[in-house]
Amino acid sequence: MIEITFLGSGGGRFITITQFRSTGGFHIRASRNVYVDPGPGALVRSWRYKLDPRKLDVIFVSHRHVDHCNDVEVMIEAMTGGALKKRGVLIASKSVIHGDETHTPAVSKYHLDVLESIHIPEPGSRIAIGEEEFLITPTQHSDPTTIGFRMKTRYGDISYIPDTAYFDELLEWHDGARLIIAAITRPRDMGIPYHLSTDDAVEMLKNMEHKPDALVMSHIGMKMHFANPYKEAKYIETVTGVKTYVAKEGFRVMVEKNEIAVRTLRPARFI
Ligand SMILES: [Zn+2]
Repeated sequence: MIEITFLGSGGGRFITITQFRSTGGFHIRASRNVYVDPGPGALVRSWRYKLDPRKLDVIFVSHRHVDHCNDVEVMIEAMTGGALKKRGVLIASKSVIHGDETHTPAVSKYHLDVLESIHIPEPGSRIAIGEEEFLITPTQHSDPTTIGFRMKTRYGDISYIPDTAYFDELLEWHDGARLIIAAITRPRDMGIPYHLSTDDAVEMLKNMEHKPDALVMSHIGMKMHFANPYKEAKYIETVTGVKTYVAKEGFRVMVEKNEIAVRTLRPARFI
């Protein structure tokens, strides 16, 4: 079984600064423990849902925007036992490691030095992690180095489509994935550049030859939050026939051989 736990489902500046939805990214338990897009709150939320960040093996950061990378250094500290042992893998966009014209690097040299390996892959690269393999996928985002992935597992492929505009190539990269987790920031008729809307999700799923068993909407922006993402999910499901879920803090997806099951966890009391 592959177990995916969301430590938040918010995205965009206004949801992030208000924490109307938390912004911690998600955790994948496969043959290794992988943390994806540790935005603000990732460390605190990990403990809240009893996912010990000291047991992480891999951290994946799609791009250098703060709602995706804010907690990356502290998560590296957890993964490396307080930066005391050389351990773990970081897979990140070029902007995360090197910065760009408007952003400093998101990870200091101190933190890079305690990692066992660092990957700054281009789309099309393949990285083997335990029994799984990450195929790195492209995007069209305001951070042009943003990367997604298609994770090959024995239970089928799990795709992550982070912040991106809709473009036809998305279909080729993600067609046939069993589960798609996508940053669907905006509701119907309210699309903005460089992000997916409900309309884009419908367009993508309609055009897929092999549709996924399920779609999980994440990176909910303020407009989506108030438009009611559950209504948007229902719309996607009705129009495309693809089971569509809305992520939230504590939402867990279990990808098993014969089914994809979901549940919502209760937070631990102590935090
Ligand atoms: Zn972004």
